[in-house]
Amino acid sequence: MSTPLRRVLVSSSAIRRNVERLRELAPANDTMVVVKANGYGHGAELAARAALAGGATWIGVADIDEALHLRDVGITAPVLAWLHAADEDFIEAIAREVTLGVSTVAHLNAVARAGGGTVHLKIDTGLGRNGAGREHLTEFLDTAAALHESGDLVVDGLMSHVSGTSREADLAQAEVFVRAHDRLADLGVTPTHLHMAASAAAIDHPSLRFTMVRFGIAAYGLAPTTSHRDLGLAPAMRFESSIVNVKRLAAGDGVSYNFVWTAPKETTVALVAAGYADGIPRAATGHAEVEIAGERYPVVGRIAMDQIVVDVGDAHVNAGDSVGIWGDPTDGTPSASEWGDWADTINYDIVTGIGNRVTRIDIP
Ligand SMILES: *Cc1c(COP(=O)(O)O)cnc(C)c1O
Repeated sequence: MSTPLRRVLVSSSAIRRNVERLRELAPANDTMVVVKANGYGHGAELAARAALAGGATWIGVADIDEALHLRDVGITAPVLAWLHAADEDFIEAIAREVTLGVSTVAHLNAVARAGGGTVHLKIDTGLGRNGAGREHLTEFLDTAAALHESGDLVVDGLMSHVSGTSREADLAQAEVFVRAHDRLADLGVTPTHLHMAASAAAIDHPSLRFTMVRFGIAAYGLAPTTSHRDLGLAPAMRFESSIVNVKRLAAGDGVSYNFVWTAPKETTVALVAAGYADGIPRAATGHAEVEIAGERYPVVGRIAMDQIVVDVGDAHVNAGDSVGIWGDPTDGTPSASEWGDWADTINYDIVTGIGNRVTRIDIP
């Protein structure tokens, strides 16, 4: 079998070691690793297994389909799913012991009607996104406590999510969180799991760790923000393609659509079989670099759907040579974070954008 044209090599040992490292950096009773969006593009099953091997005790996903997929492949660890359709049917999730992050009174009642699942109450402490909002909070907590008391569901956790705007803003959210916790306690409910920190907050703010931290991006070896780029984590994903053609250009020859680049002098260009349909952001046109044999070279001309062109100067390269698009910068490959900078986005957007034509290969 020949090498797939476009491939993503995913290292489960890198994820395992990142989780081990993060548990030292941000210790808490429980560590959740978030494997939504197909494990941030790395493969949900692989990411979940590697995370559990690294000491994670919970797995997080956005929706129930993602949670059921993990159950289908044999993951038996606690799984939390927190984003549900307005008319979500919770029966199967409850039967398969998926813990439900719930944000509305309607969903509390739906969970109770579906047979009494285990819930983590998700409250909006100021992010202004998912979670029970301020004007519904009292009714939400009272309803949850009543259903817990009557045995119609089990309140096992209280959760929220911070904005990362500033230390002050995050700590202000934590105060709202603690007040909601106290209100629940007054109602006789003391959930086991209290959590509001994702990667950045877990690392930055010890007081936001409560009983559990939720690592997404950092578990994959990527920095949640530009100020976290030196944490000793190893990127678990390497995105590669291969050179499929090599040609010599004369000064003035144009490359790719609209000739946004023309060769300033005689040079060699390599055609590489991956483009924006495979997840290379078109917005990085004019800024990007790739790695060939440990050296970095600029991507020139418009990034196209299936192809990019690399200016290798006078280097000797051949059709069939491997091209590192993003991966571990310690071996000369640009990082997903650099691609994020080049495309005016973030590394999260880069790794979750891997297209359907790319073959995922698990490496140790
Ligand atoms: C995605 C997500 C996370 C993980 O965030 P990272 O910044 O990738 O660590 C944690 N909690 C919730 C609720 C999320 O939606």
